[in-house]
Amino acid sequence: MEPRERAKQITELLEKYNYEYYVLDNPSVSDAEYDRLMQELIMLETEHPELKSPLSPTQRVGGMVQDSFKKITHQRSMLSLANAFNEEDLRAFDKRVRDIIGGDKVTYMAEMKIDGLGMSLVYNKNLLYAATRGDGVEGEDVTSNVITIKSIPSHIDCDGDFEIRGEVFMPKKSLEKLNKIQEEKGEKLFANARNAAAGSIRNLDSSIAASRGLDAFWYYFVNAKDFGIRYHSEALAFADKLGFKTNPERRLCDGIDEVIKYIEEYTEKRSSLPYDIDGIVIKVDDMNLYDKLGYTAKTPRWAIAYKFPPEEVITKLTDIIFTVGRTGKITPNAVLEPVRVAGSVVQRATLHNEDFVTEKGLMIGDYVIIRKAGDVIPEVVGPVLSRRSGLEQPFHMITNCPVCGSPLIRKDAMHFCLNPHCDARKVESIIHFASKDAMDIEGLGEKVVEQFFAQEFFHNIAEVYSLMNHRDEIINMDGWKEKSIDNLLEAIEKSKDNSLERVLFGLGIKEVGEKMAKTLSKIYHNIDNLMNATEEELLEIPDVGPVLAKSLVNWFANEKNRELIQSLKDVGLNFEYRGSTTKAANSYFSGKTVVLTGTLSSMGRKEATAKLEDLGAKVTGSVSKATDVVVAGVEAGSKLDKAQALGITVLNEAEFLELIK
Ligand code: NAD
Repeated sequence: MEPRERAKQITELLEKYNYEYYVLDNPSVSDAEYDRLMQELIMLETEHPELKSPLSPTQRVGGMVQDSFKKITHQRSMLSLANAFNEEDLRAFDKRVRDIIGGDKVTYMAEMKIDGLGMSLVYNKNLLYAATRGDGVEGEDVTSNVITIKSIPSHIDCDGDFEIRGEVFMPKKSLEKLNKIQEEKGEKLFANARNAAAGSIRNLDSSIAASRGLDAFWYYFVNAKDFGIRYHSEALAFADKLGFKTNPERRLCDGIDEVIKYIEEYTEKRSSLPYDIDGIVIKVDDMNLYDKLGYTAKTPRWAIAYKFPPEEVITKLTDIIFTVGRTGKITPNAVLEPVRVAGSVVQRATLHNEDFVTEKGLMIGDYVIIRKAGDVIPEVVGPVLSRRSGLEQPFHMITNCPVCGSPLIRKDAMHFCLNPHCDARKVESIIHFASKDAMDIEGLGEKVVEQFFAQEFFHNIAEVYSLMNHRDEIINMDGWKEKSIDNLLEAIEKSKDNSLERVLFGLGIKEVGEKMAKTLSKIYHNIDNLMNATEEELLEIPDVGPVLAKSLVNWFANEKNRELIQSLKDVGLNFEYRGSTTKAANSYFSGKTVVLTGTLSSMGRKEATAKLEDLGAKVTGSVSKATDVVVAGVEAGSKLDKAQALGITVLNEAEFLELIK
């Protein structure tokens, strides 16, 4: 193909991919594929300079501004970063820097390249606005979403305008949780943490951002020089002091060799970090050199982003098998020839549901691309069509439960086994009941539950509490000793004392997640009160919608479930809410009388009160000598004056958030 024609073709593709990635937060190709095309275009433009134009994707920051958001013009452009893909690129960058500034070694700051969404925060004491990078010149005003991130200060003790930039991201744990919820609701899963973070922040409903467990790291203090700061490392330390979360993994490197060592170290450590990184950013530490090194239209010349090679591998899909979840949901799973990806061996991957398999066009026997979404969950990207031999077998969705044989029912994209006596569902419900976030019975994991269920030591969760009747048989089983079974029996016994929210979550009532179980427990205090609650009453609780209210009432109306509760009561299980006593005992607020005044940007009065009470504080309405602490948000009035007059400790929002963390 003619170079001009190819350049046009790539440009069109990159523009389409930019739109999908930056506007829709839903890319159709991997970053590696995007980067490969971008490199090809850079090469073509280098070899044929006449093809280069200021409008080329190689010359422009790729983002765009959506009309639904208010636009904000950046005080200084928010640029992208040039990329390095290997050691050679890094050494070439170092040489360019040294050629301009002289000397044979440069001090660089090496930092995690957080895979999230670039963000600018502008303050003048209080946060004025938060804006996305957009096209680099104009960004989107996403202030109301960004302030829901608890680690971001709403106020700083600093005179004059102050701008800091960083990355809003979704920690791996939050992504896992979110995708679990999406899956339970039968909604589309987020392909990775970056898209999930961007989708949450660029949403017009800020309660979405607030519920997504987002966080942020701040890596560039724009007007550091106005504060007499010369080095980037110093600027980060200053930002830290002001209460901004900076990334602790950063390291000052003396010369490019140390940078390369750091990259090698973090290529190994990458998968164990609690958030996704897609590379390492290298910045010249001395900011006095920035103007001398200069800028292109798209990137600064004093920094570069090293991109990790894509963690995608190819392996054979040998079979598709089906599992039954605790709600009866049937999941197709890929059985793979074992392969190593992102630090661990993968031999199974969820295929979610029938539509997922057919949309990807997977056939049994295909070679498939595997990657780890959010570096944790193995994901089947798609088949490698060029490697088909013709012997591959088509996929057929099953029509009957693989465990009990009952006919399956399709609801939305999912298939269900509705037989409540299906063994697979019973096993899954016991596994869930004993799990860490529910009853937290140490030693009663998946394998043990399956083993004991097969031996008929228990058939339901109530019978778990009669396991001691099988102690002698268990001691004689392979892999069990007196000590291990006694430890397990002790853990089972101990779980009887758990607070109500754990049992409630453990019962596996549809729609009642961990958080909802806690909310309900706090309000109803014991299971009898909750059992008697009507749909109308439940609907008065914020966060309880009609589906949840109906699900709860139906669950408690079912005679079998009432019998289950009674048998759990008979074995001595606690069904009272005990409050979070350990947390409260260790808290700064424990036993203190606290008054809230003014408006907090990160949460409402009710939420703040609940949090404080949870930590053992007594929250009252007026300031007196008996008050220990006043939490003052913006526009705090006479209560703040009175607290100051009485010499009572006053906390601003950032201090308050830090203490309730
Ligand atoms: P980039 O991702 O290569 O690097 C620049 C960005 O890195 C900055 O804007 C900042 O937001 C971020 N960053 C994270 N940690 C940082 C740190 N410590 N210091 C400074 N910056 C840090 O460039 P880009 O312009 O944001 O995006 C281009 C990249 O996005 C592509 O290379 C590709 O990987 C991806 N992309 C993918 C698609 C797709 O369809 N898959 C489409 C468009 C872009």
